[in-house]
Order: sequence, then C-alpha cells, then structure tokens
Amino acid sequence: MDPSRPPLPAPRSLLGLTIDELGAWAAARGLPAFRGRQLGEAIWRQGATSAAQIKGWPKNLAAGLDGEGPLLPAVEDRRQEAGDGTIKTLLKLHDGKLVECVSIPTATRHTVCVSSQVGCPVGCTFCASGLNGVERDLTAGEIAYQVLHHHRVRPVTNVVFMGSGEPLFNYANLIQAIRVLADPDGLGLGRRRFTVSTSGVATRIRQLAVDEPQVTLALSIHAADDETRSRIVPLNRRWPLAELMAAMDDYSTLVNRRMTLEYVLLADANMTTGHAHDLAKLALRYGAHINLIPFNPVIDTPHRRPTTNEVKGFAAAVASFGGHATVRGQRGADIDAACGQLRRRAEATAKAPVH
Ligand code: SF4
Repeated sequence: MDPSRPPLPAPRSLLGLTIDELGAWAAARGLPAFRGRQLGEAIWRQGATSAAQIKGWPKNLAAGLDGEGPLLPAVEDRRQEAGDGTIKTLLKLHDGKLVECVSIPTATRHTVCVSSQVGCPVGCTFCASGLNGVERDLTAGEIAYQVLHHHRVRPVTNVVFMGSGEPLFNYANLIQAIRVLADPDGLGLGRRRFTVSTSGVATRIRQLAVDEPQVTLALSIHAADDETRSRIVPLNRRWPLAELMAAMDDYSTLVNRRMTLEYVLLADANMTTGHAHDLAKLALRYGAHINLIPFNPVIDTPHRRPTTNEVKGFAAAVASFGGHATVRGQRGADIDAACGQLRRRAEATAKAPVH
C-alpha cells in the first residue's frame, strides 16, 4: 500500500460504494477489481453478512477483511411489528447510536422509510426526532443499509427519505446512497422509486433538481403562511416561504415531475379554513398533490390529534379551494409509528435507573 494515499474505507463503510467503486477499492488494496465485484454481489444479492460468506473469495482474503471489523454497518437492536404488517426497526450503528427505519408492505409494494441523520436539527414541534437536536449525519452506507436490512425479508420496491433527519442537510451522503441503491449491479432500484422529503432547504432543492431530476420531491410544508409555519417548522425562519417558493419555482422549471406537499394535521395549529385556503393555493401553483397526515400523538410535543370529523372538514375545505388532497391512512397504529418515537423510548429505557 502507498502510505501517501488516504486510508481505505473500513469494511462497514463498503455499503456506501457502488459496485464499480468496490472494484476500485479492491484495486487500491492490490487485488484484482473483480474481487470488489464479488464482494458487492455477495452483499447486495446473496445476503452475505461477513466476508467469510463471499463466494469465490480465498479463505485468507476473507479472514483478513473480517479481521478489520464488521462488514455491515449496523445491527438490529429491536423491532416492533404492527398488525397491518408495518415493521419499525431500530438499528444500532458502530458507535452505539440508534436510528429507525420502517418497512411498509402492501399487496403490490414494499416501501422502506429511511433516516438520514441521528436525530434532527430542524426541531419541528410535532416530531420526536428533533426533540434533542442532531447527533450526527449518517454515512451513505448507513443509509443504504436500512434498505438492505428490509430487502432481505422481501424485495424493496420504493424508498422514502422521511425518517429522522433532514436529508438535504446530509446532501452528499443522500446522493451517494441513491447512487448505490440504484446501481443496476446491486439492488437496481429505479430513480423514480425514490422520494426525498425536505422541510425546506431552499438551496439544496435547486441542487437536487440538477443532480437527481428523476426522484420525487416531497415538501413537508405543514403550513402555507409564514406565521404558522415558523411556529411549527423552525427552518422557515431561515428560508421563509418567499425564498422556498423561489427555489420551488426553479425546481419546477428544471424538473418535469409532480411534487407532493406533506401536511401534518395538528388540531390546535394548522387546520383553520384560512390554512386550507393557503395550502390549496400553494399546491395549485405547482400542480402538487397534497398528503394530509393526521398527527400521531408524540410524548413531549404540545399538539393534539384531530378527530375524524376535523380531518374530513379540513380535507373538504382544501378541495373547495381547488386543492387535490388525500388523507394518508395511518400505518402501524399499534406501534410507535411516529418518527423518532421508538428511538426515544429505547434511549429512555437505556438511561432509566435500574432498581
Ligand atoms: S419532521 Fe422531519 S424535519 Fe421536522 S424535526 Fe422531524 S425529522 Fe426533522
């Protein structure tokens, strides 16, 4: 090895490399490039969890790699399974940090909701993930592994970046994770199978249009007036609606794909007729579809879940102003379905004194 070269990725980081990049990684180790391809196929297609399971690898080579640390970047810490098939998994990373990912199966799809950061810096008032701020960004491999973890049970068809964290604040790793998961020699997920959800990082919305124009953008809007939005999505103070809409205008010019507006229904905060009017107006401007998401009660957040009648009334008001909205059915109602809740519960358990 050339000592002047930067250190090679640890084995647990190899999931963050495409198959071609694994070939280059092998070459940098003085191995034939096809060894990297064998490694990638073993991880992504054959379910290998250690180097010893890589088909065609000599024992000494596998033992050497295994000796450097785990091949996979996370292990399952705990899981909750709901009656409707939704599975929320808590993964423990190499440094002990915990992240959630959720498997959402239907008859025709298997969607995995992944996290992009440990915690979240945005601090939306209705979300458990942001209650304690952000601890660190996830690596591309840690993001990609969340998909692989559930893919091994049933092939994944769709990936949504709607778990903990603001994906556009971890931009480079987000883009690399999409490249890895879309690699035709790996899982080969089509770009249109990805949805990136943002709370409104205006500058990166423009960048995403250039770098990944085929993925779907979901804007977590939650209020379409500055006063309400700044109260419940603090990022709005940094990029108020005028700036956000300027970025969305640019995005719409560059990308000919329908975007989605995500709107958490908070009975006490964003469900007046005026809110419905502003939301419909914004959606019409972009031809966007609106997903209305009744708030899932979260401990330590101040909000109230709306009643069924309140949800119906708001949806009707949005429709009366011309907006196209659907109320998202609640999945995983009998588990800690809201983002960040399982992790919070696990950390509270770990910190609780043992009597
Ligand atoms: S809703 Fe999303 S952006 Fe807001 S705090 Fe939670 S994870 Fe962060």
